[in-house]
Amino acid sequence: MANFKISVINGDGIGPEVGVEGLKVLHALGAKCGHTFSTTHYLAGGAAIDATGVPLPDDTIKGVKDSHALLFGAIGGPKWENMPHHLKPEAGLLKLRKELDAWANLRPAVVYDELVDASTIKPEVLRGTDIMVLRELTGGIYFGQPRGIEGTGPTRKGFNTEVYSEFEIERIVRMAFQIALGRKKKVCSVDKANVLESSQVWREVAIRVGKEFPQVALSHMYVDNAAMQLIRDPKQFDVIVTGNIFGDILSDEASQLTGSIGMLASASVGGPVGFFEPIHGSAPDIAGQQKANPLAMIGTLSLLLRYGLKLETEAKLIEAAIKRVLADGLRTGDIKQPGCRILGTREMGDAVLERLKAL
Ligand code: NAD
Repeated sequence: MANFKISVINGDGIGPEVGVEGLKVLHALGAKCGHTFSTTHYLAGGAAIDATGVPLPDDTIKGVKDSHALLFGAIGGPKWENMPHHLKPEAGLLKLRKELDAWANLRPAVVYDELVDASTIKPEVLRGTDIMVLRELTGGIYFGQPRGIEGTGPTRKGFNTEVYSEFEIERIVRMAFQIALGRKKKVCSVDKANVLESSQVWREVAIRVGKEFPQVALSHMYVDNAAMQLIRDPKQFDVIVTGNIFGDILSDEASQLTGSIGMLASASVGGPVGFFEPIHGSAPDIAGQQKANPLAMIGTLSLLLRYGLKLETEAKLIEAAIKRVLADGLRTGDIKQPGCRILGTREMGDAVLERLKAL
């Protein structure tokens, strides 16, 4: 039994709609398990621009840093698209990520048996897929120096630097092993060690850290092969750990195995406060219509509980409630299937809540 401070940023578009459903489920879970989740709402993105003139007010940064975890909806939309770059909603999101110093991004790609037909990949290839992609988030080529554009005429060039220090590799690889211990005990480290020196160091460090975890099987894969294997035989993977740019691409690829963006959650951790959010954006095309799938947001709760608050049993309860809803043939429009009942955002939230209470 414990009291947790959760900061909440609903954001824009469908953010508030799915956010309400997430909190409903979180509070019900608290009542069921004897925890108190004290939630405080903060502004970011377009809603913050409208209220305060900036996409990330100081109050938000302070409040979030003073909490145990951040539950984030989505930000952005056409209304703010023409703002100057530093005042766009996305600028607020990037600043917040930086403030929270989250160096690990976790993206589970789980194919539910009930949704196995929703993907473009054959059901027999997909069935049973459950992958955790762990991407290094604050290093590599997106941040490496030197970078820039220089020169003129035909020799004008753009350049970036892929660079990893041992401590950056060590901490993310160690996290991958720790996560694998609670799963199928397999880590695949993805690199390009046949071409890049930075990957050579990555691989050496992965092997060294791997020795601390004899129970976990470590394999290595070049990134080009990993991109192919994810489509050819996704079930072979348990935890994938890789650098920033490779992880950016592979995590999107893995997420598409599962069918709908409305089902997928992510976590950015490593700093003092974890940042938990669905992978979808603010979906302005369906905002305010009760059409958004809240299961990505509700699935985000299970990441928050497991990786933010270390409440494994509670995380499993949320996952079980989501599975029950799908098994009972309930769907939102984005995952509709013949013979299933289509629900709106609120009704789907209620359906999860009912099943959670009954577990
Ligand atoms: P999006 O994820 O918002 O929408 C893409 C498509 O998926 C749309 O057709 C949308 O209706 C659908 N969709 C998304 N979430 C859904 C859900 N929960 N249920 C059902 N359908 C869902 O991406 P976009 O259209 O490229 O971007 C819209 C806005 O969101 C932009 O302003 C973008 O900058 C912003 N964005 C924010 C984040 C974030 O806050 N982390 C991430 C991505 C995009």
